[in-house]
Amino acid sequence: MTQFGPEYVRAIAPYQAGKPIAEVAREFGLDEATIVKLASNENPFGVPESSKAAMAAAAAELGRYPDANGFELKAALSKRYDVPSDWITLGNGSNDILEIAAHAFVQKGESVVFSQYSFAVYALATQGVGGRAIVVPAVNYGHDLDAMAAAIEPDTRLVYVANPNNPTGTFIGAKEIEAFLNKVPGNVVVVLDEAYNEYLAPEHQFESSAWVRKYPNLIVSRTFSKAYGLAGLRVGFAIAQPAVTDLMNRIRQPFNVNSLAQAAAIAALNDKEFLAKGAENNFAGYKQLTAAFDELGLEYVPSFGNFVLVRVGDDDGAGARVNLALLKQGVIVRPVGGYGLPQWLRISIGLPEENAAFIAALKKVLA
Ligand SMILES: *Cc1c(COP(=O)(O)O)cnc(C)c1O
Repeated sequence: MTQFGPEYVRAIAPYQAGKPIAEVAREFGLDEATIVKLASNENPFGVPESSKAAMAAAAAELGRYPDANGFELKAALSKRYDVPSDWITLGNGSNDILEIAAHAFVQKGESVVFSQYSFAVYALATQGVGGRAIVVPAVNYGHDLDAMAAAIEPDTRLVYVANPNNPTGTFIGAKEIEAFLNKVPGNVVVVLDEAYNEYLAPEHQFESSAWVRKYPNLIVSRTFSKAYGLAGLRVGFAIAQPAVTDLMNRIRQPFNVNSLAQAAAIAALNDKEFLAKGAENNFAGYKQLTAAFDELGLEYVPSFGNFVLVRVGDDDGAGARVNLALLKQGVIVRPVGGYGLPQWLRISIGLPEENAAFIAALKKVLA
């Protein structure tokens, strides 16, 4: 049989997304309205009202191409993060940013460093350009930054760091990140993926865009998919100095962020109330879930994101088994066997009643 494409593309294992509600309803014969989805770290409050209004206004212009330069969204981000507009790259979700970085900075055969148990897209983006992944063993389910700095080889072009990390929820403080940035050679680009930054408690918040001024090899990546509630629209962005930003802008598709997404993102960025409500719900939900795990004697990784990684059994079938039993009760969570964590499940923090439905279903399964 004819084989198409390069070997490194054929070797890619497709990304496994959280199961959509409609699919679970069909598969298990359930009513969609009764299904609880805590599988993709989405915002349980959905789209902010401010973004809905902005999209309704922008809909009239959908016959035209979006602004390829995202002038207004970049202007809003520029103001918010106090960096010039030409330091910003917009992405079709921050997944796009992660991929653009691989395409812009890595050639076939060159290496990329990232951590064990870090976000699956780093491996996919690396493989998509024929790069060589250097996967550094995690410590306590989080990044070992010293080992990652030491793992950089002469042909390393890119390092991905997720902070907080998904799927484990671990967090690295500002001092450690900066110590790491000081160790990385200046010709190696570091992507600091901060998809969950807005969920951090005030004492952990650090305006990482400040590092971009200091480190010409740093890309800070953020998204509107999580705390801002716009996952379905696909908007993310990167902040980096012009030399790096210029290359990323050449690689990205000209119209990678659509008009509705640009309008919605501007509105969400200025919706402080929505963010505050989400953060409050998240802290309460984290307590609710972890109290139940404590009661059930289940180990979990302390999380700084909007999800918790919990160990549901001692055997390597546990994650898949408990996941299936939860699905049958209409609760969708995320198995993480693909991350090398077959005894664990990742639970996104939902509304209090959604968390309660998950806890009740989990108790039934484990009883
Ligand atoms: C969810 C997530 C992203 C980005 O998602 P987009 O929807 O593409 O913006 C990026 N990094 C991590 C670690 C994530 O968990």
